[in-house]
Amino acid sequence: MKLIRELRLSSVFPKHCAYCDRLIPGDKYVCDACRKSLPRIEGEICNSCGLEKKACACKGRKNYYSGIAAPFYYKGNVRKGLHIFKFRNSPSGSKVYSREIAETVRKRFPEISFDFVTAVPMTVKSLKDRGYDQNVLIARETAELLSLPFRPDVLKKIYETEKQHGLPAYRRKGNLAGVFDVTDYREVENKVILLCDDISTSGETLNECAKMLWLAGAKKVYCAALALTEPKTGKGNDKNARS
Ligand SMILES: [Zn+2]
Ligand SMILES: [Zn+2]
Repeated sequence: MKLIRELRLSSVFPKHCAYCDRLIPGDKYVCDACRKSLPRIEGEICNSCGLEKKACACKGRKNYYSGIAAPFYYKGNVRKGLHIFKFRNSPSGSKVYSREIAETVRKRFPEISFDFVTAVPMTVKSLKDRGYDQNVLIARETAELLSLPFRPDVLKKIYETEKQHGLPAYRRKGNLAGVFDVTDYREVENKVILLCDDISTSGETLNECAKMLWLAGAKKVYCAALALTEPKTGKGNDKNARS
């Protein structure tokens, strides 16, 4: 039924590629050019930062999470697609993005049995201003694709912080201290959790959320994001990226 409705709608409203925004046939979500050229993270991957080992600059740093999986670098048409997704209030891209994340999680963590998926939260005020949380949309659909429960309210963001991208590296960690909290410890105790964010620049936000989950008694936390920035170029920093 859902499929029939989607097919009918796509014949009336042609689709745009979720990355470059080009108009494409109604049965597709991604154009051929993007499919072939998206900046994928492949090959040997660093478990601490999720980047290819040749791009990693983290020196195997210790995190509160046990691993991080992301299909893409935050550049080129992945960056463009996420901009459009956020600012045009177009949630349809989340289907394409969540499929990529779910596939990467399956590939990278085949042995892990997750209890549930949660998302890096926004403050209540930001959510009211924007009307929807694009990260929650992606995380919810990722959970569905992985056949896992979705618990969006396990973490809360208590107050707004300075944008991480505008801060020097040494201030980023301090900027996040005490910003996130766990709403109900019983939900988290002894659980293996998959924590989702859309873009991660330095991993600090994911690590701070993972820390709160760990302090609340989580057994293990793994992270997933659609895109990670490359530390070497420094050009990936962007006003959309949390940190
Ligand atoms: Zn495209
Ligand atoms: Zn690394």
